[in-house]
Amino acid sequence: MGEFDLIRRYFQRPAAAGVEVGVGDDCAVLVPTPGARWLVSSDMLVEGRHFLSTVDPARLGHKALAVNLSDLAACGATPRGFTLALALPRVDEAWLAGFARGLWALADASGCPLIGGDTTQGPLNLCITVFGEAPPGQALLRSGARVGDEIWASGRLGDARLALEVFRGTVALGGDAFETVRAAMECPTPRLALGQALRGIATAAADVSDGLLGDLGHILAASGVGARLDVDALPRSAVLAAQPAALQRECLLAGGDDYELVFTAPAGARMPDVGVAVTRIGRIEAEPGLRVVDASGAEVRHGLRSFDHFQE
Ligand code: ADP
Ligand code: MG
Repeated sequence: MGEFDLIRRYFQRPAAAGVEVGVGDDCAVLVPTPGARWLVSSDMLVEGRHFLSTVDPARLGHKALAVNLSDLAACGATPRGFTLALALPRVDEAWLAGFARGLWALADASGCPLIGGDTTQGPLNLCITVFGEAPPGQALLRSGARVGDEIWASGRLGDARLALEVFRGTVALGGDAFETVRAAMECPTPRLALGQALRGIATAAADVSDGLLGDLGHILAASGVGARLDVDALPRSAVLAAQPAALQRECLLAGGDDYELVFTAPAGARMPDVGVAVTRIGRIEAEPGLRVVDASGAEVRHGLRSFDHFQE
């Protein structure tokens, strides 16, 4: 199968609503919503770095798009389309069919059509760029947190890291427990509805991709504020809650790949009900830095850091 047959078979579909020209020409042509702002983000997934070669291709297709949609969610954007740049070592039709199935399922569920891309031979590597929209002045940014705001997290944190530790062989889990955390790692849900519902409510937001300490730290740095974070309040699964306290903290504070939203809102703000739990986890303070405390208010010395590709 040649390059263009491959594109036609797996990645070309009739153009979706709002897409004047999709896959098949030199450029895609999108119809912008009058007055809206474009929000654009890219995320690359490299084999061995972001995923294991043995991962189910449908889950990989899902995750490649999910991590990108998570950035749109963090900014409160409505998805409009995405491009896919794909390097493949060889044409493996079973793999491509699985990958495309996972990718399209999430694209359809999110109203985010595939509008173009690039396909080349090479070491397995995926790069997606997502395009979204938000009304002017309503994108959620990292820079808007104010002293006195409360800090919130969606869903549950830490399961993806726990799964990674099982793959690394440092933690042993039973079958069902492992499948639960493995699904969190391989099949994250981008919080698009929550992000959009937080427009006009959240003062700042980010998605938790590299670990809560780091991603909340980005909000603090961009906003010029500090915070107190209650580690005992952090939302966690029953599987994680059954682990030793030190491991729980490591997964909750420094684990990446959660793709939940961490955001700030004025104290007492009403939280939207979009079917995703949100938990209050701390407060913004004037004193710079991030102080992790336990339920009694005592400071927790953790020595943990979030993920950084060039500092390990
Ligand atoms: P060009 O040579 O003009 O860069 P290509 O030959 O690479 O275009 O691609 C042909 C068409 O197929 C373009 O519309 C491009 O956007 C689309 N395309 C290529 N690879 C992919 C892919 N992996 N997923 C979706 N669309 C793709
Ligand atoms: Mg061209």
